[in-house]
Amino acid sequence: MSPDPNTSTAHPGGEPDTGSAAVTVQVPAKVNVQLAVGPPRPDGFHELANVFLAVGLYDRVTARPAERLELGCTGPDADRVPLDGTNLAARAATSLAARHGIEPAVRLDIEKDIPVAGGMAGGSADAAGALLACDVLWGLQTPQEELLEICAELGSDVPFSLVGGAALGRGRGERLSVLEVGAEFHWVFATAEGGLSTPAVYREFDRLTGSAAPEPQPSEALLAALRRGDAEQLAACLANDLEPAALSLRPELSRTLETGRSAGAAAALVSGSGPTCAFLATSAQTAEDVAGALREAGVCRTARTATGPASGARVLHDRTDRTATNRTP
Ligand code: ATP
Repeated sequence: MSPDPNTSTAHPGGEPDTGSAAVTVQVPAKVNVQLAVGPPRPDGFHELANVFLAVGLYDRVTARPAERLELGCTGPDADRVPLDGTNLAARAATSLAARHGIEPAVRLDIEKDIPVAGGMAGGSADAAGALLACDVLWGLQTPQEELLEICAELGSDVPFSLVGGAALGRGRGERLSVLEVGAEFHWVFATAEGGLSTPAVYREFDRLTGSAAPEPQPSEALLAALRRGDAEQLAACLANDLEPAALSLRPELSRTLETGRSAGAAAALVSGSGPTCAFLATSAQTAEDVAGALREAGVCRTARTATGPASGARVLHDRTDRTATNRTP
């Protein structure tokens, strides 16, 4: 069922009155600390070695009973979020309902704080959030394995948004192994005006590398740095194979990266497919200093600090009278 265009509006303030039952789920953004990209596969996807770290910038998704699927979105980027059946949160609710043979009779309200089309998996976060929120609202108690299967159908980054923490993603990034992380890392994220389309960045990657991309492998040194919680070692290993493609499409990002490095970041890289730039700092104070320098230089739209690893999708509020189902996946 498609969302009703008459009711699928952003709410600049206040909550829609759709009854008292409601489930709110919080979901983190991600940064790829390593993104090794292989040549394109016959199905068009690329084989990846994708080391994800969830970071403390969050979207919230609230699910409430409704007569049919409805969507709302608030936040600074809300006008760039589609409020129709293509929204990943709507697709998640529809997929879960179809699996259980029920109607997706739900209103989903997204409080969007993750940059849109920013290379931080914001849409994937909303999909994972909607999936968990609907599962709890509808009292389905879908096993984690099955939720992860639905996530993988919705998008390559969605399984990680559900799980959070840190993980190595193989295949197109959906086959996850959880990674140990020895400490909290301090990050700065510089958002840019406008977004970058992930498919366009992969096309540019193909144009720049041809079929010369080697089989992607995770870096043992990087995994060890994560395990030990060693920020300097991690800084030396950060790598994003999509960065040259993102910089080719948005050359001005080089200045943003350079500004953060000069201000004391231990490392700087484009986050995923960009255009958000990520900076690793060795302390909370250095992260604040780098964010201040980026703002002052006017090389980004916003500069925000966050730490990682952060928890995956988790239920913040459950007003369904089924508190036994209140859980994290
Ligand atoms: P990734 O890092 O996973 O490649 P991204 O962070 O660069 O993704 P998203 O914010 O997920 O990009 O948005 C990519 C596109 O997906 C948007 O331009 C928008 O058209 C569409 N989209 C669908 N659902 C959502 C959603 N809930 N939030 C944001 N964008 C969405």
